[in-house]
Amino acid sequence: LLSLTGAHVRFGGRPALDAVDLDVAEHETVCVLGPSGSGKSTLLRAVAGLQPLDGGRVLLDGRDQAAVPAHRREVGLMFQDHQLFPQHDVGGNVAFGPRMHGMPKHERAARVAELLDLVGLPGAERRAVAALSGGEQQRVALARALAARPRLLMLDEPLGQLDRSLRERLVVELRELFARLGTTVLAVTHDQGEAFALADRVVVMREGRIAQSGTPLEVWQRPADAFVARFLGFDN
Ligand code: ATP
Ligand code: MG
Repeated sequence: LLSLTGAHVRFGGRPALDAVDLDVAEHETVCVLGPSGSGKSTLLRAVAGLQPLDGGRVLLDGRDQAAVPAHRREVGLMFQDHQLFPQHDVGGNVAFGPRMHGMPKHERAARVAELLDLVGLPGAERRAVAALSGGEQQRVALARALAARPRLLMLDEPLGQLDRSLRERLVVELRELFARLGTTVLAVTHDQGEAFALADRVVVMREGRIAQSGTPLEVWQRPADAFVARFLGFDN
């Protein structure tokens, strides 16, 4: 479904993405791990068309996306900092994608209710987003990303601000939801446990490059190098 080849992004001479090759197959869930500043968000933004490439290509279904503006790409991105629409209530935020796709009102309401249940905010449709806690906003942003059902769903730290028990429950429910809907997912997380529980494949980034890509078991049993081993916490 997605293919990045030789993707380069530089900020003031420093590479944020450095010759990144990455393929994501239809129905696959890929989790990107890596230290802060290693280029994870830049990778998602480049695929979404929000960050122009200084080199290389993004292909979706084999089609070069260079000339395709962000709003026409068949991808959804949940931002690391949520970016909810403050003028809409919770329900309006979650219904945004379905409304854009012309889904009838009663279906929209049912999908919104189902997703708010999933993220643990049942009945929150009429609440104002400004009055929500950070974790609640994150859950609304997750529901909004899921509601749009894009071909490729990209999530940047989707559960980062949530407490452990909620995270553990959501990881299980998300995995079931992705399997049920056949969603293709590219998700960034700093939580190894989350990545290993959610992913068919784990990608570890370091300084704009992919240090390792493999199944959770492969990465766990055979870290590619000392950096990956240290990042996974094997020698501390
Ligand atoms: P984190 O885990 O902290 O979210 P990340 O892996 O998502 O980190 P990126 O946000 O992709 O990291 O940033 C990669 C590098 O590019 C960093 O050095 C960052 O400072 C730099 N960078 C990112 N966005 C910009 C920008 N708009 N302008 C200048 N530099 C940027
Ligand atoms: Mg980031």
